[in-house]
Amino acid sequence: MSAPTCLFCTIVAGRIPATVVGRSRHSLAFRDIDPQAPSHVLVVPVRHVHNVGELAQAPEELADLFTLAAKVADSEGLDRGYRMVANTGSEGGQIVFHAHVHVLGGRRMEWPPG
Ligand code: AMP
Ligand code: ZN
Repeated sequence: MSAPTCLFCTIVAGRIPATVVGRSRHSLAFRDIDPQAPSHVLVVPVRHVHNVGELAQAPEELADLFTLAAKVADSEGLDRGYRMVANTGSEGGQIVFHAHVHVLGGRRMEWPPG
């Protein structure tokens, strides 16, 4: 079920524009509006859940999201590697409370993250 005030539900519904780069049965991939790397794509479940922990209770949707993320990394040409990030909760840096993973690549990633 979608949440009317949720930004990513609004994007999934096509009610605000996004640059979609992939879709699958349960997931949608679109470019982050404020890219932190040459390739920065968000992969979200179509269904509204708050975070990836909640998504893990639906293994088929979780697997679908990770499969789409891997396909996006491939289509973005990230064969030298990429980073997947799932900010979870306010202290984890999550701002949009609709589950998503960031797929970042096209530059060398630093560790540890800030
Ligand atoms: P997080 O901090 O993990 O919740 O990340 C939320 C991400 O959503 C940030 O990287 C934002 O730049 C991104 N974002 C916010 N609004 C939009 C939008 N309208 N389209 C695409 N990405 C967005
Ligand atoms: Zn949502």
